[in-house]
Amino acid sequence: MEKKNNPRTERKCKVCGKSFIPNKYRPNQEVCSSLECQYQRQLENMKAWRESNPNYFKYKESQDKSWKQACRERSLEWRRKHKEYLQLYREANKERHREYMREYMRKYRKRKKEQQDKNREQRGGENAGE
Ligand SMILES: [Zn+2]
Repeated sequence: MEKKNNPRTERKCKVCGKSFIPNKYRPNQEVCSSLECQYQRQLENMKAWRESNPNYFKYKESQDKSWKQACRERSLEWRRKHKEYLQLYREANKERHREYMREYMRKYRKRKKEQQDKNREQRGGENAGE
């Protein structure tokens, strides 16, 4: 049995749950290399760092605004680099959002109609009783 301890075995992405092979240089990689997941990871990292350094953040924030600024710029920089991709992503989501809203409105109208029917029934009942 020759079972080498190979770090490059498939693992599941923490974000999307898909299997992926970690990068040769980053055997501890937890997120697959899709842009969407990398972006999520970036957000997570920022959040995690902030949570583990709340005082630092507060301190820095009270000291100057540059940390926040740097953060924003990093995010913007990322967006600039992946502008095309994000555009596609947004387009895809717009469609998904539209679909969601359509469904929502359908349900909303149905509920409203049911409510109106109920009201009419009630009014009808009153009239019938004189
Ligand atoms: Zn992923």
